[in-house]
Amino acid sequence: MTYDDQDYLRRLPHLDRVLIGSAELGLRVRELGNEISRDYRSSLPVLVCILKGAYMFLSDLTRCVAADHEIDFMAVSSYEGGTQSTGVVKIEKDLRTNITDRDVIIVEDIVDSGLTLSHLVELLHTRTPRSIRVCTLLDKAAARQKDVRVDYRGFEIPKEFVVGYGLDYEEKYRNLPFIGVLRP
Ligand code: 5GP
Repeated sequence: MTYDDQDYLRRLPHLDRVLIGSAELGLRVRELGNEISRDYRSSLPVLVCILKGAYMFLSDLTRCVAADHEIDFMAVSSYEGGTQSTGVVKIEKDLRTNITDRDVIIVEDIVDSGLTLSHLVELLHTRTPRSIRVCTLLDKAAARQKDVRVDYRGFEIPKEFVVGYGLDYEEKYRNLPFIGVLRP
């Protein structure tokens, strides 16, 4: 944990602890970027950032992907501000890019039940891309209700509600430079 991480922790009474520190995040994001660079040398993939949670991850990841690529954004809602999945997935903002015959990499903050992601993959497949892969920073594999393939995974984490590095609780905590756990 860096000094900054500790400083945030001291100032935020609702935070219980740091699960993944900012330095560790930085190293792993660089590794993921290298993997993607190796796998997509010449096909100009589209990195599809799922808003809002994946914005910080995408921003760091794109700087670590040396291969040429494009980015685009989609927003879906599923949790409606609470901590439980409603199972309802709504497209709030769609892509501007035509992904027909393109290699697509979905960039997610976290895969929990897998419901959101499986819905998205299904939807994007109807647009006949050349390929779809999934890159998620966090994976709560033990919470999976719907089997969904993850190609690039930053960290597997336990079934706890996490915040920071783009992830919120009621729109707060997205700015934290680390992944933390709120007090129960
Ligand atoms: P799933 O459909 O896989 O259950 O949930 C996926 C979405 O739920 C994620 O993209 C994220 O927005 C939200 N989510 C799942 N687990 C967490 C968590 O621990 N913390 C936060 N902040 N959001 C989560």
